[in-house]
Amino acid sequence: MKPRVLVTNDDGIQAPGLRCLVAHLCEDSDLLVVAPERQQSAVGHSITLHKPLRMDLTPLAGLPVRAFQSNGTPADCVVLGALSHTGPVDLVVSGINAGANLGEEVFYSGTVSAALEAAIQGIPAFAISLADKENGSFEPAARLARRLVGFVLELGLPRGTLLNVNVPGLPLERQAPPVVTRLGRSCYANQIEERKDPWGRSYFWFSGEPEEVDSGPGTDIGAVAEGRTSITPMHTDLSDDSLVEKLRAQQDGLAARLMETVGDGNREGW
Ligand code: MN
Repeated sequence: MKPRVLVTNDDGIQAPGLRCLVAHLCEDSDLLVVAPERQQSAVGHSITLHKPLRMDLTPLAGLPVRAFQSNGTPADCVVLGALSHTGPVDLVVSGINAGANLGEEVFYSGTVSAALEAAIQGIPAFAISLADKENGSFEPAARLARRLVGFVLELGLPRGTLLNVNVPGLPLERQAPPVVTRLGRSCYANQIEERKDPWGRSYFWFSGEPEEVDSGPGTDIGAVAEGRTSITPMHTDLSDDSLVEKLRAQQDGLAARLMETVGDGNREGW
């Protein structure tokens, strides 16, 4: 029996990256597509609690799959696909995103958040992004995704984990072999641009180029810069183990300080 694979994305159900992914996965897998009805990039892990969620059957022209468009976010789409009437899901694949999701960008990414939501739901998942959206074709990433589906299903992933995959915009033949990486770090310089509207009031644009602060060996940023596909295992546990250890060693002092009653509680005028 074919595995049941739920496909979603954050670029919207009509995005070329999703169509290309579906075209490559539909032979080996029983696909269910639940994706946002419109562009939702950079929505992060938001979910919808204050309005009804819709899930409307939508033909994906030429592709033999059941596809639903939703007014929800990428994370909503995973919950809808996994828990609605459509039956159990073996794997979630999110993408193929137009543009990289490297380093700290994963916190903003709807693509990665969909895979994180799957991990929270206890379903193995990977997010896949085309790092060079200007020049690259989605084909190489889709071919890799097809092979990765088989690999992940055989390997299995521990609960609460996922893979974040970034594919350079090069034909597979010209790519160096994929590597397993960790998240690098990047921050944006000159991030806010202030302008004036016709009435003289300020408005702001986020702008600036990413300034890489950790793109060295072993990072996803470094791998993609070398023309390699990066495969970064991630987990939903954001605890900082080394800081946990360090603070635990000072726990008594910390607790005493936080519980001190002689202080702001007794201060007059508060
Ligand atoms: Mn996107």
